[in-house]
Amino acid sequence: MSIGIARSLDTRWDVVIAGAGAAGLYAALCLPSHYRVLLLTKDELRLSASDWAQGGIAAAIHPQDSAPLHIADTLKAGVGLCELPAVAYLVEQASPCIESLVALGVEFDRQGDQQLAMTREAAHSRPRVLHAADRTGRAVVTILAEQVLQRRNIRVLPQAFVLDLWLGAAGDCQGIGLVWEGAVRWLRAGAVVLATGGGGQVFAQTTNPRLSTGDGVAIATALLPNCGI
Ligand SMILES: Cc1cc2nc3c(=O)[nH]c(=O)nc-3n(C[C@H](O)[C@H](O)[C@H](O)COP(=O)(O)OP(=O)(O)OC[C@H]3O[C@@H](n4cnc5c(N)ncnc54)[C@H](O)[C@@H]3O)c2cc1C
Repeated sequence: MSIGIARSLDTRWDVVIAGAGAAGLYAALCLPSHYRVLLLTKDELRLSASDWAQGGIAAAIHPQDSAPLHIADTLKAGVGLCELPAVAYLVEQASPCIESLVALGVEFDRQGDQQLAMTREAAHSRPRVLHAADRTGRAVVTILAEQVLQRRNIRVLPQAFVLDLWLGAAGDCQGIGLVWEGAVRWLRAGAVVLATGGGGQVFAQTTNPRLSTGDGVAIATALLPNCGI
């Protein structure tokens, strides 16, 4: 199998990931290397909200910090809109994920030569925000994209617009439908990951890139009847 950008398109994959921001890139890197993975983006690999993120990433790794404190701050800032299981999962996974990003080569700012630098910002009650100057998102996705392009099991398909899930008669997900090179194509996949980012473009004023149109949320609504909703 050749490395990097796909030129032809197989119709069967172990995993198809829609979206190549930080979430899609990282998901691709977390999968076992014997899986054949297709990573799709409707734009170019290097354009995403992740690339534009500037401020930093919150993780409770300071000696005076803890996951319960981070959860409490998040719920308070969320004024009733946050789901506790989701917040707890994200907070508890943050520290190992930062370790993993550092191991992959992401260069967060440090105090002196050793300790990761953390700032206290916004609703955080402890120093908790890691950054790479004011280009944290770019520092992360640049390394993740480099790593993805080196993996022989991951194919990257830019300018591929995911339209819909391919649902079987029982409502199970069997793959996806997309537009690529002017034609609609249907690909079978053992699993589909929707990592298409946010929907900032629903607002008249937004700092999000044009691609943030909430496509994955709209696509996932096809599954709601299966969930009894
Ligand atoms: C200006 C700005 C500053 C920010 N600063 C911070 C910060 O300091 N700290 C912080 O934590 N967060 C920050 N954020 C938020 C953060 O960037 C996002 O929450 C995060 O990057 C989302 O990552 P993602 O991988 O889910 O989505 P994205 O990075 O948006 O990636 C979405 C991917 O999905 C693809 N896609 C979308 N629809 C389709 C489709 N139909 N078919 C195929 N591909 C599709 C896109 O092409 C893209 O590759 C900031 C955001 C912006 C815009």
